[in-house]
Amino acid sequence: MADISGNTTDMKVFLVTGGTGLVGKAVEEIVKQNDGKDYPGIKFVFLGSKDGDLSVYKEAKKIFHQHKPNYVLHLAAMVGGLFKNEANNLSFFRINNLINDNVLRLCDELRVEKCVSCLSTCIFPDKTVYPIDETMIHLGPPHDSNFGYSYAKRMIDVLNRGYAQKWQQEAKQSGCNIPVFTSVIPTNVYGPYDNFNLEDSHVIPGLIHKAYLQVQDAIQKGTKETQLTVCGSGRPMRQFIYSLDLARLMLWVSFNYQQTEPIILSVDEEDEITINDAAQLIAESFNKVAPDIKINLINDCSFSDGQLKKTASNLKLRKHLPDFVFTPIEEGIRTSVKWFWNNYDLARK
Ligand code: NAP
Ligand code: GDP
Repeated sequence: MADISGNTTDMKVFLVTGGTGLVGKAVEEIVKQNDGKDYPGIKFVFLGSKDGDLSVYKEAKKIFHQHKPNYVLHLAAMVGGLFKNEANNLSFFRINNLINDNVLRLCDELRVEKCVSCLSTCIFPDKTVYPIDETMIHLGPPHDSNFGYSYAKRMIDVLNRGYAQKWQQEAKQSGCNIPVFTSVIPTNVYGPYDNFNLEDSHVIPGLIHKAYLQVQDAIQKGTKETQLTVCGSGRPMRQFIYSLDLARLMLWVSFNYQQTEPIILSVDEEDEITINDAAQLIAESFNKVAPDIKINLINDCSFSDGQLKKTASNLKLRKHLPDFVFTPIEEGIRTSVKWFWNNYDLARK
């Protein structure tokens, strides 16, 4: 458990579940910038699964009662790319439902002022019109490849609305303040501290790891060219968001966004690219760390493509933050490749 604290008397506690993962580490990095001065009076606590299994109510209760949070950013989840989802729908549904029900129940029991949970653009209906917006989450079945993860995530929105209704009814009698439980909907996230496992990861970390192994092999053999196998046709489209941008936006939501209804956290629609475009950027980024080796892409169409696109509108976000500048994907991928190259031994893989 990482505990970023100065003077702890009279400080409010901001608990981040899933604080050791891709997004949690990015939140920690943003909070640490400027010597933590951007968040005066707040003590941040970053939890990992070693601190307790949040899918078990007794363990979750112990952690929450120990920290007594005022704010919760709920990131902990069973997470994975297309192929892990396709193979494990039942576990994704059961484990994530247990984690989410325990976390929100404890936020209610401890009267947490604000709880922000995390959905994903991959939970939207498969058959839909584009761009997707926040009103469309429940308007039809999700893509079959990740129905377990999707339905579990959709239930967070149901819980948030249920708790809001309960507090409104209670407030009529007691007149006390009503907490805000809400959710954010990020697109496909990438960055340092990602899960780079070859089978279970999302596409960008998976391709970075594969490219790394190919480049190392080429260096050993003294060859100048190597291949990177991209699963599927490479034609599906995704709006990738850099983890540090997402972290900044999540912190903004935690302190400024007061609605129960979710908010999409995404790059603009025109920043959507194909899987092969992302793979090409990875190949080019390896050229910076291993300039003598050229990586050629090949597509293996025996793998599935998953959802062809899930173009999301960030209009709601842009109404609040019209000038937010996202990290260009070329730069984000370059930094992620460099991070993996320099941190191979400690990277999750
Ligand atoms: P991640 O890197 O896999 O991290 C998952 C985090 O959850 C880790 O800190 C992990 O702890 C913790 N965790 C998992 N199971 C737990 C359990 N049973 N009890 C306690 N902690 C547990 O995931 P991420 O990519 O940062 O995802 C963060 C959130 O963003 C998730 O809610 C995910 O659904 C959402 N999201 C992710 C993406 C994406 O592309 N990655 C896209 C949209 C939404 P350990 O490190 O100790 O295992
Ligand atoms: P999604 O965005 O939720 O569908 O999940 P992913 O991040 O796993 O991206 C899946 C898309 O990337 C599909 O079109 C896959 O065919 C494609 N893809 C290409 N190579 C890989 C790879 O090595 N790993 C993963 N996870 N997906 C890959």
